[in-house]
Amino acid sequence: MSMGGDAVGDQEIPAASSANSRRHLYAEGAALLEEDCHVVGAEALFDQALTNGLLAIAARAIPGHSAGDPTARQPSAAKVLDDLAAIASVIDGIVMLGTSEPDYELDERGMLRKLDHEKQVPLHVVQLRDAIARTQTARHGRGPGQQVTPVDVAALVALDQDPSLGTLIDHYADRDWRRAHVDDRAEWARAADYLDLLSNSEIERRVAQAADQLGSSSWSDDLDPQECPVCGNEAMQSTGGDDFGYRITAATCHVCSYRRSDRIAYDLGMDVEWETRWK
Ligand SMILES: [Zn+2]
Repeated sequence: MSMGGDAVGDQEIPAASSANSRRHLYAEGAALLEEDCHVVGAEALFDQALTNGLLAIAARAIPGHSAGDPTARQPSAAKVLDDLAAIASVIDGIVMLGTSEPDYELDERGMLRKLDHEKQVPLHVVQLRDAIARTQTARHGRGPGQQVTPVDVAALVALDQDPSLGTLIDHYADRDWRRAHVDDRAEWARAADYLDLLSNSEIERRVAQAADQLGSSSWSDDLDPQECPVCGNEAMQSTGGDDFGYRITAATCHVCSYRRSDRIAYDLGMDVEWETRWK
């Protein structure tokens, strides 16, 4: 998971999201909200997950939709939801989106049996529209989210049945991963609030002191200061091991007090490993 400097508060959706990063952003938000719908920055996370999920589905389901052209300006979640609802059908009172893929069910022996109709994905239009209206008025701030409900999250997670997504697996399904990232968002917000209390001169004093203190600890590579993702200073003192050798460890910042856990350090190392090996 990548937490940019603005990840906790308001977040811009990149216009040129590739199909993969859309799936990733959808899955990350849906997984964290499913773990805790009041996670810090829940509204922005919901908006990001929903927008990216709907764009991925529209790119698959609507030929010629601007979602299929990453260079085009991307429409809002509300607009894409309307576009999808317009091509969906209502089955037993639920708006369902066709997938042009066969549907299966488990038979009495637990074997997959192909059904004679296509797979349909539930699109909870009314709930999602209502959630967009609520979350967009409350997207700012670092406090715990109050506007996202478990019913909103269920509607968001239901989209994962679409063949363009199907991403809530592997680490996104792992309770430990989810818990660690929910906790990290709270820790991030706590440190950012603390940083706001410091005057510029106090920040400068701490940066200088950290350089002094960490620079003199050259007896171990692990103790090289690392850049803090919250305050941006090279002031993180290592408190853990470097599993992958990318100099990303559990660490505590001398300036803003942000504390990166072992699990978050491991996941960041994993991300770099993945990019280095597979991209
Ligand atoms: Zn810091």
